[in-house]
Amino acid sequence: MFANFLNKAVDAIPPSVSAKLLTTTPQALFDWKRDSSFRQFVNYAYKNSKFYREKFDIYKIDPRKVRKPSDLKDFYTTAEDVVNHAEDMLCSRPHMVFESSGTTGRNKRIYMSQEDLDHSGALDRVGFYLWGIRPGDRVVNAFDFSIWIPGHLTQRGLEKSRLFTLAAGKSDPMEVYKRIPVYNINVVFGEPTWLIKLTEIAEEKGAYPLKLLIGGAENMPEAARPWMEKVWKGAKVRMVYASVECGGVLGFESEPRCDGYHVDEGDYYIEIADPDKDGYGEVVFTTLGRSVMPLIRYRTKDSSRIIDKPCPCGMRYRRLAKLRGRTDEMVVSAGGNLYPLMFEKIFKTVEGLMSDWQIVFKLRGLKEVMELNLELKDGASKDNVKENILTNIKELYPDIWKNYSISIFEMEFIYHPAGSLRAGARKLIRLADKRYTD
Ligand SMILES: [Zn+2]
Repeated sequence: MFANFLNKAVDAIPPSVSAKLLTTTPQALFDWKRDSSFRQFVNYAYKNSKFYREKFDIYKIDPRKVRKPSDLKDFYTTAEDVVNHAEDMLCSRPHMVFESSGTTGRNKRIYMSQEDLDHSGALDRVGFYLWGIRPGDRVVNAFDFSIWIPGHLTQRGLEKSRLFTLAAGKSDPMEVYKRIPVYNINVVFGEPTWLIKLTEIAEEKGAYPLKLLIGGAENMPEAARPWMEKVWKGAKVRMVYASVECGGVLGFESEPRCDGYHVDEGDYYIEIADPDKDGYGEVVFTTLGRSVMPLIRYRTKDSSRIIDKPCPCGMRYRRLAKLRGRTDEMVVSAGGNLYPLMFEKIFKTVEGLMSDWQIVFKLRGLKEVMELNLELKDGASKDNVKENILTNIKELYPDIWKNYSISIFEMEFIYHPAGSLRAGARKLIRLADKRYTD
C-alpha cells in the first residue's frame, strides 16, 4: 500500500533529517500526504476488515467516494467497538497485542504487526531527537511493561535509537534512584506520578545530573514541572499524549516547550467532535500509520481543542491544547484507569457500608490523594470497614495496590452519616476528579 511504502521511506531517513523536514516541508505537502493516506486507509479497511465492511454498508458509505473524514457523516468508532469487535477490525495478521489497563470486564485490545511496531519505533526516534536526546545519552525506561502499551513501545524506539537503556518497568522509584549513578542515567521515562515520586526522593537525598524527564499516559499537575526542573537542577520535563488505542504517541511537547501537544499529523488525522463555543470537544483520530488494525474516526472521550495558530517553534504539525478532562466517568489516576464499577466490586462484600459512596481525586501539593467518602450504617466499625476495603483492593486490583504500596498516591477514608452524601441530588457523581479544576 502506498501509505505504508511512504512510511517505510520516512522511517529510513535519519532522525536529524526528519526533524528538519517537520519545519521546512511546505504545509500543502503535509496536507496532501495526510489526505491521501486517509483515503487509502478507508478503502484498505473496507476491503480487508469485516467490521468496516459491515459498518460502511450499514451507513451506506461508498469508500471510493470518501475524500475527508466528514464524508463518513456520523460514522465513528468507539471504545465499545474496540472492546467488542477488535478481532473483526483486523486487516492482516497481527504479531502483538496490547490491552488497556482498565478493568471494566473485557479490556480494549489493540493488535499490531512487526511493521507497525517498527514504524512506531522509528517515529519515537524522531521524537527523541527533537527533545535533544543524542547518541551517548543513557536512559531508564520506567513505563509499565505489563500488558499495557507504553513500556514496550518506548522500548522499541529506544532500541531503534541504539540508546543505552535500563528497562526498569514501573518498579519502585527508590530502586531506580539508586541505579541512576550506577549506569550514569541522564534521561528518565515514566508516568508523571511516578516521576514525581522519584523527584521527591531526589529532593531528600540529592539529585543527579539528569537532562530530561519524559512523562505520559496521565496528566501532570502544572505545579510539578517547575519544581521538578528545579530539583533536577535544570533538567527539562516534557509530556506526551498517548493511549493504548493510539498505539503510539499522538501528541508531544516540543523542545523548546510550546503550549499544547503537537499532533503527529503524519500518522493521525485529528478532528474535534461536537465542539463548544471555545472549540473544546471530543478528540477524534484516524490512524494513518497502522496496517493491522486501523482505527477510523475513533472517539477518545478526551476533551480538548485544536490550537490553530502556527507555533513559534516552527513545527508544521498543529497542536492540541492540554486535555480538559474525560467525557465519561473514567478517571485516569495514579492508581490506574479507574471506573465506578471497580469500586462497586471493592465495596460489595464490606459489612457496615451503605450503598452511597463517592471517590474524590485531589492533589495535596503534588501528591495525588484518593479520598473515599463512605456512609456507614449505625454501629459499624470504621477500623473493620477500612481493613476490609484495603484487603479487597489488594485482592481484586493488584495494580492499584502496587501503586499505593510504593506511595505513588495516598488514600484517605472519610465517614459520613447515612443518607448525607447525596443530600437531595438524584444522581451522585461516583468519581469526582478535582485534581485539575481551577
Ligand atoms: Zn511548537
